[in-house]
Amino acid sequence: MDLSVVIPVYNENESLELLHQTLSEAMLEVTGTWEVIYVDDGSRDGSPEKLKSIYAKDPEHVVVVEFRRNFGQTTAILAGIDHARGKVITFLDADLQNDPRDIPMMLTRLDEGYDVVSGWRKNREDNAITRNFPSHIANWLISNVTGVHLHDYGCTLKAYRREVITGFKLYGEMHRFIPVYANSVGARILEVPVRHHARKFGASKYGLERTVKVVLDLIAVQFLTHSSKKPIYLFGGGGAVLIGASLFGLLFLLVRKLVTGVEVLSSPFFIISTLAAMTGFQSILMGLIAELLVRTYHESQQKPTYTIRGITRKASQD
Ligand code: UDP
Ligand code: MG
Repeated sequence: MDLSVVIPVYNENESLELLHQTLSEAMLEVTGTWEVIYVDDGSRDGSPEKLKSIYAKDPEHVVVVEFRRNFGQTTAILAGIDHARGKVITFLDADLQNDPRDIPMMLTRLDEGYDVVSGWRKNREDNAITRNFPSHIANWLISNVTGVHLHDYGCTLKAYRREVITGFKLYGEMHRFIPVYANSVGARILEVPVRHHARKFGASKYGLERTVKVVLDLIAVQFLTHSSKKPIYLFGGGGAVLIGASLFGLLFLLVRKLVTGVEVLSSPFFIISTLAAMTGFQSILMGLIAELLVRTYHESQQKPTYTIRGITRKASQD
């Protein structure tokens, strides 16, 4: 199998037939064998039935993975990777906002010697204030923190060589950080502008709260790709800074008491802010420990992070 197209589907019934038709037409331009893996993420609008009817008409190319409940887009993408057989894996949204006709161009670019071809929605057709603006900030932040400079982490349409994405697991909102993981194993990354369309059917599944999750995931990803082998540097360093700051504060209060006679305990704001800063740091560090524990929990037992109702696919020859 040369190409697997992975598509997470959550309540996208109305888009699916047109999507599959557009994709199939685009695939005519691609040399080699291909499959599309629709991962139904617990839809309740009849999407699984629609997907199975699409399978019935095109069993050569279609695989349907059906979740028992809604596990989220990242988990759906992870399941798609788990079931993909292609040497190249491409992701696509199910809502027709990405355009399958961009895939042949992306594969051509991949063949020029890249491991990742990342779509960039240069003319993005989403709400400017609630979507595009936070996304600009998020992309700027992720690029500068991780050192992997991309204009559009949030664009699902991206193509990867299998080797650079199969070595790790994805949690939370982390599918957008796949390029960062790929970079950490030495992938060559190219960003190309792709088409983007306004949503015609159904509604977006996300709101502003996603930005917060993305920032928190960024901290976790940075930790996992850089410090997870030596967490004591981070934890110990953070602790040392905190202890240093509190010693400095106490010293200041002591000196002030000696010089001006102001009571050390007379300033409640000092205590409150110190406490808040410490608690904040503590909770971030605890979050990182929890990240590690979650991974140990799932990976030591080979326990998947999703449960499947059924898989619809043709018996495999390879
Ligand atoms: N999606 C999913 N599970 C979810 C939420 C979304 O599989 O819990 C899918 C959704 O069907 C779509 C893609 O993820 O194919 C992107 O979702 P959406 O279009 O709502 O995001 P937006 O384009 O608004 O960022
Ligand atoms: Mg969308």
